[in-house]
Amino acid sequence: MKTDLKGLNARETEQWAVDHGLEPYRARQIRHWLLNRLAASCEDMQNLPKRIRSLVQKEALLGPLEEVTALTSDDGTRKYLFRLQDGHLVESVLIPERDHLTLCISSQAGCAMGCRFCSTGRQGFKRNLAPSEIIEQVIMVKRSLNNPEHLTNIVFMGMGEPLANYDAVVRAIENLIAQDGMNFSHRKVTLSTCGLVPEIERLGHDTTVNLAVSLNAADDETRSRLMPVNRKYPITRLLQACREFPLPNRRMITFEYILINGINDRDQDALKLARRLSGLRAKINLIPLNPGSEADMSPPPMERILRFQEILTHRHFTAIIRKSKGRDILAACGQLTGASMHP
Ligand code: SF4
Repeated sequence: MKTDLKGLNARETEQWAVDHGLEPYRARQIRHWLLNRLAASCEDMQNLPKRIRSLVQKEALLGPLEEVTALTSDDGTRKYLFRLQDGHLVESVLIPERDHLTLCISSQAGCAMGCRFCSTGRQGFKRNLAPSEIIEQVIMVKRSLNNPEHLTNIVFMGMGEPLANYDAVVRAIENLIAQDGMNFSHRKVTLSTCGLVPEIERLGHDTTVNLAVSLNAADDETRSRLMPVNRKYPITRLLQACREFPLPNRRMITFEYILINGINDRDQDALKLARRLSGLRAKINLIPLNPGSEADMSPPPMERILRFQEILTHRHFTAIIRKSKGRDILAACGQLTGASMHP
């Protein structure tokens, strides 16, 4: 079986090189070609002798993903559909911001968490992605850009619950932020979870990336209705884990709150949310539900959204209304299904 080099860390790559009769510095060269220079084939690895290129070609798995489509939205958001080697499909979404690009990547094919507002959740779970399948999304998108260095931010908010694929995600993060890997700043990598408490606790010890929590309700009854995970890890327990999460100076935890008409958008919901988050270094992203996320739910009218925001800002929270991008190509929050679409 071929070795999946993009999923190995520096030490493991070195071991692989030594096991194949190469000097350790060759591992650093190969890693540089794969993760930094984004080499698509061994032929690109010009400073390696032909015998080493042939060895890598023969022994290493280089391209675990195949691009199926890439659709661009009216607002510039671009959605990539990738096929894994076993045929499953995953999506990544490239979001243009004012002065940089953010890439939203997937950690699983499908998802087992069953959040009601989410198309991925309704599809069910297919399988976990390997570390290299996570990293390859970033590599392939970078390769498609005129200015790959404009892609500075990575968010684990695509298909799947990243903390349900903990080991692979942490391993992928290691190569994303390693200086001799893809060299992203750990301050610009964000992992978003529906609230798997034991893994939130582990994450704080294992990485220094940003944490985002998909909260969506301030009382257990509503949250359990929207997010089955809440029955296992209710809000008090979840927020306790957030309070204990080691935050570097000036960093905050982002709480995502999808606003749904008549379900979690009342004044009393905003007041309860403010009470729940009091004392936490928190910022709140208010995301009006995307039409089509769930047939019997809809986004609130704009005046309700503004009122919800006002209640939070009066209580000194940073609460930002996030306009979802890429709705026309089903690339917005909760819309990823891995279904092939044509322009
Ligand atoms: S919102 Fe996230 S955790 Fe919930 S079902 Fe969708 S992909 Fe899974």
